[in-house]
Amino acid sequence: MNQLKNTMRMPAMFIGHGNPMNAITENPYRDAWLALGKSLPKPNAILCVSAHWQTQGTQVCATSNPKTIHDFGGFPKELFAQQYPAPGAPEYAKMVCDLLPANTITSTLDWGLDHGAWTILQSLFPKADIPVFQLSLDVNLTFNQHFRLAKQLASLRERGVMIIGSGNIVHNLARLNMQGNTPDWAVNFDAYIKHALMSDDELALLTIANAGEAAALAVPTDEHFLPLLYIAAVKHDDDNMQFILDSFDLGSLSMRSVIYQ
Ligand code: ZN
Repeated sequence: MNQLKNTMRMPAMFIGHGNPMNAITENPYRDAWLALGKSLPKPNAILCVSAHWQTQGTQVCATSNPKTIHDFGGFPKELFAQQYPAPGAPEYAKMVCDLLPANTITSTLDWGLDHGAWTILQSLFPKADIPVFQLSLDVNLTFNQHFRLAKQLASLRERGVMIIGSGNIVHNLARLNMQGNTPDWAVNFDAYIKHALMSDDELALLTIANAGEAAALAVPTDEHFLPLLYIAAVKHDDDNMQFILDSFDLGSLSMRSVIYQ
């Protein structure tokens, strides 16, 4: 059976997930995810790198039955009732371990699908019939180290694995604005990253301090930004890059999303 599985190069994409409520309300992000999902090839498995799984040392979750994790508070019961019952992908988790030096990756059964993963997968793949597994973000790595680690995973795309990073390019919860007014620093940092992606400028992505004080406000902590580095690292020279969304939500969340295919 294995040789019948899809081995075309799968797309890699970074999705801005924003507010968890985007999963269950009518909004332009969910509409875009639903439309995107209809246009995507069917992968053998999905590897998700989410802002919401940070660990000491990089971990990959090898469970065959990942639980839906409701890792947030203060939201309606309806959001806590959501389930994304996709199977796990232990054989692909092992493949990730085989691609990385043994001392840089640990396999665990102790995770599942956090809301960075399931809130977007619900719309991208509503049937929940494709195996999904997550890779964590090691809190001890530099941007360069994350990028180099991710580069070693690029060949997964040729083995039918769709790699999805889930975070936000601009993510400052302390500066949310319910009227949706987007401050200049947010616009400026988003534009800096847009330019870096369009010009394939890895150095600009890896040295965001070059964006000046906008960087400190846009990326006050790095977990929502880092998944973008994983996607930029697994692009191929002959990929086409396309922005899926490029707007802001609640003032200080950039929903800019990008696909390489
Ligand atoms: Zn988040």
